[in-house]
Amino acid sequence: MLPLCAVIISMPIYEYTCAACGATFSHLWRSIQTASDAPAPACPTCASPQTQRVLSRVTVLGGMGGLTPGEQAAAGAQEARLASITPKEQIDRLRGA
Ligand SMILES: [Zn+2]
Repeated sequence: MLPLCAVIISMPIYEYTCAACGATFSHLWRSIQTASDAPAPACPTCASPQTQRVLSRVTVLGGMGGLTPGEQAAAGAQEARLASITPKEQIDRLRGA
């Protein structure tokens, strides 16, 4: 059985600015493909469709897509370290249950 975190999802959050009222807002897309195909979302403040993506501000949720291989290794090492310090009594209790 695969752990849940093995399911890789990539949901980009893009930042937009509104040309009509100057508001900035972020929009969560279901996938990078959707984000590049769909038109920019309307402004949540004034409902104007004249919004522009701020290219420098992109956040991707999910998976380990944003991590370098070194960071992934560090995250894995930390998990292993946490697992190794499980108190012996707790393990005994789990085994006894
Ligand atoms: Zn607006």
